[in-house]
Amino acid sequence: MKIAAVHTHLLDHKLDVPFESASMRFDRRTHVLVEVVCDDGTTGWGECLGPARPNAAVVAAYAGWLVGMDPLETEKIWVTLYNALRDQGQRGLAVTALSGIDMALWDIKGKHFGVPVSTLLGGRFRDRVRAYATGSFKRDGVDRVEDNANEMAGHRAAGFHAAKIKIGFDVAEDLRVIRAVRDVMGDDMRLMIDANHGYDTIEAVHLGRAAAEYDIDWFEEPVLPEQLSAYREVRAGQPIPIAGGETWHTRWGMKEPLETRCVDIIQPDLAGCGGFTEAKRIMDMAALNGVRLVPHVWGTAVHIAAALQFMAALVPNPPRVNPVEPIVEFDRTPNPFRQAIVTAPIEHENGWVAIPDGPGLGIEIDRAALKEFAPKD
Ligand SMILES: [Mg+2]
Repeated sequence: MKIAAVHTHLLDHKLDVPFESASMRFDRRTHVLVEVVCDDGTTGWGECLGPARPNAAVVAAYAGWLVGMDPLETEKIWVTLYNALRDQGQRGLAVTALSGIDMALWDIKGKHFGVPVSTLLGGRFRDRVRAYATGSFKRDGVDRVEDNANEMAGHRAAGFHAAKIKIGFDVAEDLRVIRAVRDVMGDDMRLMIDANHGYDTIEAVHLGRAAAEYDIDWFEEPVLPEQLSAYREVRAGQPIPIAGGETWHTRWGMKEPLETRCVDIIQPDLAGCGGFTEAKRIMDMAALNGVRLVPHVWGTAVHIAAALQFMAALVPNPPRVNPVEPIVEFDRTPNPFRQAIVTAPIEHENGWVAIPDGPGLGIEIDRAALKEFAPKD
């Protein structure tokens, strides 16, 4: 079997109400899918985290090396592509584009052997995972404290056992939001906070100390991802476990954060860290260093399906009778691409998500939907 062609599909949707994290404003949802087509007609799907058009351009640049290669040789292809842009790459778009390609190749491999990717990764430790709701962005034209409290009441009613809210805007207002949200969710739901690297070290330590009384499971991306010593200072300076890693790419990008204990929880993204090939290595590195792993997920059904396959194969660490089970990030903001682009949408039921067990990623792409959401310009 040989790779015959590589295509990208841009998806675009204008939001009715724009929203913001501490570091980014969203007026539209845009994503890019990668389609790898083989000479026997087998097709694999992947997704790249980050800006759609720049990712698509890098995927197109990689296509020249890919065409003619055996899609089952995932490691050989990974090394070939990484080496091709290494001197100008090593992280960022060079790796997010590679991630989408690698994801598609594992989809092909699963389809070829008639098994889900999780089986290829080493086996399914679980057939379902508990989901945590991600939302609580800052929305235009509403009171943030009230809006976040209302949204949390919805997550609770929908059956979620855990939810993550966005902070990193202003310490005093963020603390009001945390208090209001904890009030609504009661003390039997888990709460996580995500600053999207909006604070400096002083603010992050202050927030962490003040928020600890609200029983927070983790404090995500407190400071800029390049500032590893600031991560260590925040982790040492306040009591909430620190999480991060969605912008750290490859084994080399994860090495120092893991070995110097910048985080208690590492959050590689399947569509950003280097795909399944690299995520498996990162899983081993996290286990080696005694750091918990919870993947970051932000994208379409393709990205969610990939994360679920990886989570099925996540080795319990430590392996005990009742191990700590991974939880999947489940974005609850408006995004039609979670459901519309696949023939069987991945949904939660009372806060649980079943992990597809069909070949590859276990999903079927709806090509009519891809056309419908293609950018009009
Ligand atoms: Mg985050």
